[in-house]
Amino acid sequence: MTDCIFCKIASGILPASIIYQDEKIIAFDDIYPKAPTHKLIIPRKHIATLNDLSAEDKGLIDEMTAVAQKLAVDLKIDQSGYRVLINCNPDGGQVVYHLHLHLLGGKRLTFKEW
Ligand code: 5GP
Ligand code: ZN
Repeated sequence: MTDCIFCKIASGILPASIIYQDEKIIAFDDIYPKAPTHKLIIPRKHIATLNDLSAEDKGLIDEMTAVAQKLAVDLKIDQSGYRVLINCNPDGGQVVYHLHLHLLGGKRLTFKEW
């Protein structure tokens, strides 16, 4: 996906503050944080929305949530609490069409973050 921002971050063409990466997943700071901790966790594979996850992606969401769990511990928000969310399509508030988990924490969250 040549014009996808997150594919460009995953391939190193665009800069980002990367805090985790492995062969399938990469995590980095959200450029416009909506909480003191706001990380994005994405698959390297271009998947536009949650609707586009297919059988061949089985286990991918599990791996992404495992990264969120690990980062929450590393960032010391696991006990205070955090939120993991996926926005899908316009009514869900999706702006970047490359599947991503938001990891938010570091304050008492309300629904005003979105
Ligand atoms: P969505 O609304 O699609 O669920 O969330 C997209 C997120 O990507 C937003 O929170 C936005 O701040 C973030 N974002 C958009 N462009 C960039 C970028 O170029 N770099 C980074 N690190 N985050 C971005
Ligand atoms: Zn992409």
